[in-house]
Amino acid sequence: MQHFFKQSIARRVSLVVGLVCLLGSLSGLGWMTIQVKNDSLLQAQSSLKIATGALLTGFSAFDQGTKTHPMNELVGELMSLQQDVVLIRIFDRHGRIVWSQDADEPGKKVSADLLSRLRSGRNAVHARPDSQTLSTLRQIRAQARCLHCHAQRSSASVGSLLGGIQMEVSHAQQSDKIAGYQSLLFVISLLMVAFVAAMTVLIVRRKIGRPLNRIMRAVDAAQDGNFLGRIKVNSRDEMGSLAEKVNDLLADLTDMQATKLDTDIELNVAQRELQLKEQLEQQNRLIEKTNRKLTRRLNDLALLFDVNHALAATLDLNQLLEQITLKISSTLEFQEFTILLADPRQKQLIIRSTLNEKARGKVNRAVDSLRGIYTNAFRTKKTVMEADLAELSLEGEDKELLPTQGCFLSIPLQNKSQVLGLLNFVRAKDHAFSRQPVKLLTSVAQQAAMVILNAQLYQEKVDMSVTDELTKLANRRLLRTRLELEWNRARRYESPMSLLMVDIDHFKRYNDRNGHLLGDKVLQGVARILESNTRSIDTVARFGGEEFVVILPGQDKQTAQAVADKLRQTVSGGNFPRTDSQPAGNLTISVGIAAYPDDADDPQVLLNRCDLALYASKRGGRDRTVAFEAKLEQMAEEHRQELLAKKSRKRRRKRRPRSKADSPTKD
Ligand code: GH3
Ligand code: MG
Ligand code: MG
Repeated sequence: MQHFFKQSIARRVSLVVGLVCLLGSLSGLGWMTIQVKNDSLLQAQSSLKIATGALLTGFSAFDQGTKTHPMNELVGELMSLQQDVVLIRIFDRHGRIVWSQDADEPGKKVSADLLSRLRSGRNAVHARPDSQTLSTLRQIRAQARCLHCHAQRSSASVGSLLGGIQMEVSHAQQSDKIAGYQSLLFVISLLMVAFVAAMTVLIVRRKIGRPLNRIMRAVDAAQDGNFLGRIKVNSRDEMGSLAEKVNDLLADLTDMQATKLDTDIELNVAQRELQLKEQLEQQNRLIEKTNRKLTRRLNDLALLFDVNHALAATLDLNQLLEQITLKISSTLEFQEFTILLADPRQKQLIIRSTLNEKARGKVNRAVDSLRGIYTNAFRTKKTVMEADLAELSLEGEDKELLPTQGCFLSIPLQNKSQVLGLLNFVRAKDHAFSRQPVKLLTSVAQQAAMVILNAQLYQEKVDMSVTDELTKLANRRLLRTRLELEWNRARRYESPMSLLMVDIDHFKRYNDRNGHLLGDKVLQGVARILESNTRSIDTVARFGGEEFVVILPGQDKQTAQAVADKLRQTVSGGNFPRTDSQPAGNLTISVGIAAYPDDADDPQVLLNRCDLALYASKRGGRDRTVAFEAKLEQMAEEHRQELLAKKSRKRRRKRRPRSKADSPTKD
């Protein structure tokens, strides 16, 4: 029940209104009942007074004729008028009932109290509280006419008390009526209260409940986040104002929500931007890291490419080593760096190129490949790293080639199982070789090994193509190249240059006597003498057969003469087998000399003139040196003409029948 009223204001208001109305109705009803009761009682009292007065008057109206009081008619009349008369009693001054409505009462005495009241004159109407009757008591005072009878029987005088009339009427009927009206009124009141309550409910529900419900629905929706709904405003009263206010509030909330949404969006965007920024920074860091790696890798690849490119550019081993040294020193900034190559014939390691101060004096010289850490990688075929040289006690060549402090790295130049040489690095700081450079240098070494091998193979082929197989001297092709080269150099630097053309004397004879194999040995021996008695910058070539050419860069004709004489003496003093059958008893050579710039301004002309000088040497008796002179050309021409003439005579003789006298002659 309590819950029922708590749920709705309309119900509560109607309950309060109903209760107030009910209370008011009941109060009004009670008050009205009391008033009606009082009025009814007063009316009954006044009726009773009137009736009593009438009775008294009637009683006093003594009938002289009958000498009786007309009580019975009077009372009968009164009783018919006053239906509710309960008691009418007349008694004398002594309390003896002389007449009563009740026939049994006359002669009896009234109560002392009643008598006392009569005597005291208290005859007002009064209601007994516990009864539904009104009673009145009136004194009967003697009048003059009364004395006719009463003076005789008693000492009555005018005005004296003769007795009293008591009359009692019931007001229960009025009370019942009043109670009936009261019930009716109560029911009416209840109906009115119910009506008022119902109306209140309707009005409150219509005017308050529904608007409030609408407001509550709007507020509920707002609580659920929907601020767009608006309350329908039907009135201009407080509820209407409240609805408008709530609508305004909702509008504000909508704005706030929109603002909040905007703010949220901006916040989200800002957060997203922040996240993106962080992601971007992470990506950037990653990219930078990758870039660094890539840059390193690119540098490595660039180095490898450069090395490859540079190495591919030449097949000349010396140039190749020079390029490797240049690239490694410039790109990897190794200042202490040495390339050692194996000499497969002599099974030793030779320092071929170096940036190392200590190894500089040992370029093109062999190092001890059997012991020491400097050549350890050659033996083990594995990379050797000594992170701290100070911890080692270096001995032998290691002591000469390595510093006492720093670190050392030696990477084999390996092709399959063949170690072609070593790349040796030294750094002044210990533990200065990290994994990455070692990896890179290993790649460089692999690459270098391949190109070195190629260069060596190529060199072999080149050597074969420009080397005379028998004597291992430069062949005619190389001679031509070298001659061009030295010629150009001599012209450029305006330095002299001489040519020697050497021919073994009577070599045909030697071959004929001793066979070609021994003749080959002699050729090889002469070649070694020519080679070992000239400088490394000189070129000794086999020109053909038993003829040799020596290019002497920077040497004038006079010096060339000395060189030629020295060569002749060495050959003639040489220990060749079976030379006793030679005309001179030993092996001799003839040498022709021509020199730039004295004898020619073209290398081929110079070579021809050198040949003319040799020819002159032969014609001069052999085992001698002849330098070119202009007259030699003329002599040669004369000799050529002579030969031509001889040949033509021979041909003519051949056409004619041969006579015995015409036997061939050897020139
Ligand atoms: P001269 O003193 O005039 O030079 O007489 P010569 O015999 O040396 O000259 P000639 O031109 O008549 O003979 C050259 C000889 O050299 C002919 C040849 O048998 C020999 N000869 C050329 N090439 C070789 C070679 O490769 N091996 C050998 N064993 N002999 C060769
Ligand atoms: Mg010859
Ligand atoms: Mg000869």
